[in-house]
Amino acid sequence: MRDVALVYTPRFNDYDLGPSHPLKPVRVVRTYELLRACGLLEGSNIQVAQPSAAAEDTLALVHTREYIEAVRAPSEGRTLRNPLKFGLGTVDNPIVDGMYEATAIVVGASVKAADLVLKGEASIAFNPGGGLHHGHRAKAAGFCVFNDVAVAIAHVLKECGEGVKVAYVDIDAHHGDGVQEAFYGRRDVLTISVHESGRYLFPGAGYVDEIGEGEGEGFSVNLPLSPYTNDDVYLWVFRETVVPLLEAFEPDFVCTQLGVDTHYQDPLTHMCLTTRGYIAVVEELAQRARQWIALGGGGYDVTVVPRAWTLAFAGMAGKEPPEHIPESEAKHYSHSEEPVSLHDEGGPVIDEDWARVAREFAEESVAAVKERVFPFHDLSSPDA
Ligand SMILES: [Zn+2]
Repeated sequence: MRDVALVYTPRFNDYDLGPSHPLKPVRVVRTYELLRACGLLEGSNIQVAQPSAAAEDTLALVHTREYIEAVRAPSEGRTLRNPLKFGLGTVDNPIVDGMYEATAIVVGASVKAADLVLKGEASIAFNPGGGLHHGHRAKAAGFCVFNDVAVAIAHVLKECGEGVKVAYVDIDAHHGDGVQEAFYGRRDVLTISVHESGRYLFPGAGYVDEIGEGEGEGFSVNLPLSPYTNDDVYLWVFRETVVPLLEAFEPDFVCTQLGVDTHYQDPLTHMCLTTRGYIAVVEELAQRARQWIALGGGGYDVTVVPRAWTLAFAGMAGKEPPEHIPESEAKHYSHSEEPVSLHDEGGPVIDEDWARVAREFAEESVAAVKERVFPFHDLSSPDA
């Protein structure tokens, strides 16, 4: 059994961008409550760790000082003259009270997860509040202010020095643009993002020809997929590309963004995974991530996210999750009196034409990655 840590603080509830904003912190709070109710936080191999806010120098591993100052301005009673320059004051990223503190604690939690793994106190550390993968160096975007993922990876590189290799795998429905951008010119960080194509979804990026630049050419990997992609197609893509790339790269650390907005009920995207497909992907990662910094991510159906992350954490900890949601939590997931399954009971019904489109789209992306990226990793491309 592996030593596993959950990094959690009730202060995750402060990352609240307003009552009508789709990113609701209650999804993280309910994940914790569901884990606890299921007895998954008990066991000699399991610890719950409290994070503290990231220091400014830690944020500056990725972000500019000017941007850090801009995010802090409202907390200090200063008015930003040009918030849009920093991506702030938009519908996606409104300026809210305590924004700096709320986002600094998320980064601190991902750095804490990294430290637990670096120091050997856990072989897997999961921060469900993390995964803000759209944050840019000097700009907020897509609900993300600071990029806790990029900061955690930069922290690992700084602590371990030359020669350490980090693989980043992003299974959120949206392209992990901020993380890709932070390491686009490096070959010691392999970033892989599997997502709904930018043709249909924010941030409109993550195409197969984005493969890194300079030294980093071949070390950024993108697998855009079509709306209506289901469990089987997604798993096939993952096993054809992500698995061999991870095996060839032989990372010292694996960092993952485990967004669950690929789910068929998600209100913001058009992918069609179920919790079974999602967990199968997480299991593939678990087999290959010896030292694993696991972060949360998107997911906008609050009846789905806590279930998916509870199942994921049970797998990490090597514990059998209960079949049904404990009674004390069931009211959050169903109005019925019947017991509620932790896994999805149903699944999507996909039109045959769309299913074919999704399969062909996936085949094209896989072929493109094999052709453009595999040769950089001594993996054979289809023509070889
Ligand atoms: Zn997302």
